[in-house]
Amino acid sequence: MERLKETWKRWLAGGDATEPSLCRLLLEHYPGAVMLLDADGVVRQVNPDFERHAGHPAERLLGRRAVSLDIDPLHGDFARALERCLTTRRPWQGVLLCRRADGSLRHQTTMIQPLADGDATPLRLLVVQYDVTGMRERELRDRQLLARLDSLVSQVPGVLFRLRQSADGHLEFLYLSERVAELTGLGADRLMGDAEPFLDRLPADYRERLTAALAQSAVSLEPWQLEFRLSLPAGECWLEARAEPQRRREGGTLWDGMMFDITERKRLEERVQRLVGTDMLTGALNRRAFFEQGEAALARAGRLGQRLSLAMLDLDHFKYLNDTYGHPAGDLALQAFVRTCRDSLRPYDLIARIGGEEFSVMLLDSTPEEAWTVLERLRRAVEAIELEVDGRVIHFTVSLGVTVLEPGATLEGGLALADQALYRAKRDGRNRIGAPAWLGPSGTGDDGA
Ligand code: GH3
Ligand code: MG
Ligand code: MG
Repeated sequence: MERLKETWKRWLAGGDATEPSLCRLLLEHYPGAVMLLDADGVVRQVNPDFERHAGHPAERLLGRRAVSLDIDPLHGDFARALERCLTTRRPWQGVLLCRRADGSLRHQTTMIQPLADGDATPLRLLVVQYDVTGMRERELRDRQLLARLDSLVSQVPGVLFRLRQSADGHLEFLYLSERVAELTGLGADRLMGDAEPFLDRLPADYRERLTAALAQSAVSLEPWQLEFRLSLPAGECWLEARAEPQRRREGGTLWDGMMFDITERKRLEERVQRLVGTDMLTGALNRRAFFEQGEAALARAGRLGQRLSLAMLDLDHFKYLNDTYGHPAGDLALQAFVRTCRDSLRPYDLIARIGGEEFSVMLLDSTPEEAWTVLERLRRAVEAIELEVDGRVIHFTVSLGVTVLEPGATLEGGLALADQALYRAKRDGRNRIGAPAWLGPSGTGDDGA
């Protein structure tokens, strides 16, 4: 580069006998308009291609001031730039708006290089220009298009996002539309490059579900959809997200999707659920209804001096089922489980979904021995369920803990005992009934009552 500059300088200072043809070649083929100005800014020399690049016939400009190219020859940017170069003797670079001979305005990237060999030689200025109007116009169009897209995106009632998971598992948002702050309480700037602050706001089980959904979608390249709860400083909100995956050539996966606020809908669902007393997914009683109806049944049994059987049921390795076949498959399993409970129990027995995959059953009007038989039949029926999901057959099992409520016992206390028995069933290998020793044929030996 320095050598090239030197060659130019020598040529421009009046020619060089050693390399005349190189200088001529350079000038003839230089891909831009080249002018040599004297210290007054008057054009002394131009390259052959000058007219094509600058839009002015060369001979019309020779002997005239270069600033006549500027749209404002007297006070324009060109005049200021030349002035600066002449006083500081330092190069200048920028974009000038110039007028071509045909009157059209063009943006010219302009470089001005002062050429002086000490104070002895007169100062000259080398000016090189490139027409960048096309590029500028495209840039302007792109910017206008982006502004229009931005305003469109800000009208969308949700957040558009692009999420990337690299091959090493790192999750980051590459794009988030403006509303993300409104929805999640986190600005896009905090989430670009690292999705962790967002994941942090998800309760543990929803975070697991999201991770599992992403892992599955990354393998199957099927879209994912998830409803999740988010803990915000201002309270709790519900979001629904859906996204389409793409495989990255460099490894990892990219999802383009949308998140929207479903808090209102969830609140409504919860209200309806409370009103009807049943769990939306399975149709079993919800916890509140179970306590209401269970207490009433217990009081009645107490008055009649009868005993009631109470069981806690927990699906085995359910997390594994979710992780392996997906959360929707888990939901289907929960529904199939409750259907099987209904088929195995009598219509007036109570079946309730107490937690995620935890259920309670209260058997009314049956002796402890009968209850044992019924629950054992239920256990086997669950074991025999063949759930078909995407062409695959899924099996799962349930562990049970059973206890007997004597007249005067409380439901809370009974559930705690049933829970202890359930714990024993899990500990002893799952897919079995845990019970106090005096109850049932395969009691565990230690009395939990
Ligand atoms: P264990 O045999 O010890 O009970 O193992 P587990 O995997 O069943 O135990 P854990 O209690 O750790 O896991 C329960 C899982 O149930 C985790 C949670 O994601 C899942 N789950 C809870 N509610 C739902 C639901 O509504 N739908 C689905 N698909 N899964 C749920
Ligand atoms: Mg559980
Ligand atoms: Mg479980």
